[in-house]
Amino acid sequence: QSSLNQPFSLFTGCACGILLINRFSSKRTMIIKTTNEVYLDFNATTPVLPAAVKEAHDAMQEMYGNPSSTHTSGLRAKNILESARDLVREVMGVDDGQIIFTSGATEAIQLAIFSTLCQIRLQRGTQPSDTKRLLLYSATEHKAVPLALKHWNQLLCVGNEVMAIPVDRKGMLDLDFLSQHAAQADMICTMAVNNETGVVTDLAAVEAAIRKNNPSVLWMVDSVQAVGKIDLQLGQTTIDYAPVSGHKIYAPKGIGLLYARSSAPIVPLFAGGGQEQGARGGTENLPGVAAIAAVLRLLADSPEKTFAPEARLNEFRQRLIARLKETFPTIVFNMSLENSVPTTINFAVKGLTSKELLDLFDAAGIRVSSGSACGSGVVGSYVLDAMGLPRWQSDGAIRMSFGPLSTSQEIDLACHQIELAGEALCESCLVLSPNPTEFRQPLDGMVQLKNGSMCSWLLFDAASKQCVVIDPFAELAERIEALVRCQDSRVVAILDTHAHVDHESCRTLLLDHLQHLSLSSAETDDLLGWPTKPDGELKLSDGSLAPFIRLGNDLVIAQIDLPGHTTIGRGLLIGPATSNGSEICLRKEDVKFALTGDTLLIGGIGRTDFECSQPEALYESLKRLPEIISAETLICPTHDYTNDFVTTLECEISDQEFLRQLLNQKSPMSREEFLQRKPGIDAAIHEGAGGELVCGLIRRCSSPYQPVELKQHELREFMALHPDTMLIDVREPHEFVFSTDWHSMGFESAPQNIPLTRLAGELPKLREWASAQERYFIFLCRSGKRSGKAAEIARRMGLMGARHIFGGLAISCGVAQDRNACIDSGFVI
Ligand code: PLP
Repeated sequence: QSSLNQPFSLFTGCACGILLINRFSSKRTMIIKTTNEVYLDFNATTPVLPAAVKEAHDAMQEMYGNPSSTHTSGLRAKNILESARDLVREVMGVDDGQIIFTSGATEAIQLAIFSTLCQIRLQRGTQPSDTKRLLLYSATEHKAVPLALKHWNQLLCVGNEVMAIPVDRKGMLDLDFLSQHAAQADMICTMAVNNETGVVTDLAAVEAAIRKNNPSVLWMVDSVQAVGKIDLQLGQTTIDYAPVSGHKIYAPKGIGLLYARSSAPIVPLFAGGGQEQGARGGTENLPGVAAIAAVLRLLADSPEKTFAPEARLNEFRQRLIARLKETFPTIVFNMSLENSVPTTINFAVKGLTSKELLDLFDAAGIRVSSGSACGSGVVGSYVLDAMGLPRWQSDGAIRMSFGPLSTSQEIDLACHQIELAGEALCESCLVLSPNPTEFRQPLDGMVQLKNGSMCSWLLFDAASKQCVVIDPFAELAERIEALVRCQDSRVVAILDTHAHVDHESCRTLLLDHLQHLSLSSAETDDLLGWPTKPDGELKLSDGSLAPFIRLGNDLVIAQIDLPGHTTIGRGLLIGPATSNGSEICLRKEDVKFALTGDTLLIGGIGRTDFECSQPEALYESLKRLPEIISAETLICPTHDYTNDFVTTLECEISDQEFLRQLLNQKSPMSREEFLQRKPGIDAAIHEGAGGELVCGLIRRCSSPYQPVELKQHELREFMALHPDTMLIDVREPHEFVFSTDWHSMGFESAPQNIPLTRLAGELPKLREWASAQERYFIFLCRSGKRSGKAAEIARRMGLMGARHIFGGLAISCGVAQDRNACIDSGFVI
């Protein structure tokens, strides 16, 4: 069996494509592409210029003296320090004032804010101000600024109000607001260039608004993203403080600086040996200073004090934008090209989340970020929110930033990789491609689509090219439609389990949009979409009869009534039917999947405190479940509040005390007791995140099925001990198609690709495979997050041999034995 899984090259002599045959379905084919690494996250950090590396190296190896020492070694080191300071002055266009080297911009920001607030405290004494005083910052400022303002304002008991200056749709500061509030401000913080959008502030206009109303207020301009991209000439302005960061301008991390005008107060954050003219105690980071000096020297030599002419960078951006537009027809740009630096592009693609795009780009070797790197993991962008962009644009934001020293060849390569990413995306049917390729993955089995806690389910039968859509939520309508169309699948039925109290079904809309793909069987006049002419009636394990429809040759979908949560509630039982003489049966042990709506949820049972609820009916519905489904039938929820994906009666009985008592075979809970206790259970329901209506009591305790991790260095040994282990890559198909050197990671062959969206659907097959003997599964993904989840779900569903690779593919190649092979494969640390 495992030989089926061996990839073999379609081409000789070049690694252009590989055909992979999946263990479960010989029909799945995919192209595997070779990827190059393209780093497009320069606003997060830049590589270090070779000249800067050399200077830092020399400062460590040769000029290692302490700049405070009076001997020759010290004097040489001091010379490096002071020459660097001169270079900063030259590049920033200032003759006087202080240049204080710091560990980075965050420290420089603290120093400016701390100094200002100390001065306010000193001037005001212990008396609070009689009038309201403000600390103003632009709403799109890097988080370090408002957080430092709030932190020091509180810690130093200054008592000012920290207030954001709004921005308009283009990210430009509201100058009227600034003019109105400037007189009340003790400090104003703005930024020269925004890190997420590249938006350039009109500093002359800001200065006019500030100085007209408050000539003496201390004004900080965060210059981190501006240095080397625009000519700052701070000496010609009344800017009091300007923080700069080394690692954004091709110097290493750990070095930055603060320019402070000669009249601006400086109060040291670190008291110590009097270094930096007493402004910052502690021996200077001389290698860092030497490195930043090497970069500044380059800038000082340019007439505009920039790395590259704007026109050249604009042309690069235009090329990238053109390719992005071709690749993603529904792309929307989150910033305007007129008021932003050319090195930044911020965009969203309708129908795709930023996480999906990020995963896709990363698999294609393109390193970008969703919003700012500092906010990684946080959904949405406060910068785009402040600009008033629609929620989806903020949630789906991707920042692509190249360096001002990037070359034309690098931009060409980036365009090429973007094209590959687009091709991969079309193959996975996530977006509708105008010309779908023959390599798109045929879907077979259950697919779970999620939006927040809401789940829609699609059941595909690849052989007959048919599908059934269950509980289609409006938010998932486009994705469902794209999947069905891309698969060219015929719709047998679109069904709801109940009329949702909190969310809308898009059943009728889908029926309309997919009309030409719908079979006549989908015709319905039922409230929940059950076909007017089902295929017949079958017998369930409790002896009752249920109408059913067929999907392909092998599966039936039987419909049962499960009222309670709402007056009309349905259950759908899916599995292979058997015949008993002339009778068609669906035995409970054959029910592979049960969709029980909100009757039984993961960690809870349906709430019954709505007007349309019937607690007595829910009692009967719950009691009926063990009669018609097995303990192991996979229950596919309409809501997944705990991110557990799927459940079983067995799991829920073990997790839920109330359910356990209700279904206790020896002394089941009486209807009276149920009715008496149920209101209390409903009253304990908490609202979900963002005030979401939670449709059942949800287990709050952490899952006992923690994923079992395998560290990278344990892999080879594990595989040698358990050669029959099944390796499962849970990334989406559009990520999986890109090549990975599995061999260098310790695997003999490429893994199965079972994305998380299809894990629930594949569980019956995995169970079957595992039941023969004790078998192991290793899940893996990009970062170890999704694979951890998959291993947890699998263990919860009884596959105790599930493991996952800690840190994922992203770090695998860093420890692989054959690192060069990894580099070739595009996974480079
Ligand atoms: N300000 C801006 C605009 C930035 O982009 C960053 C880094 O992302 C910072 C401040 C913080 O810089 P550092 O990483 O040097 O502390």
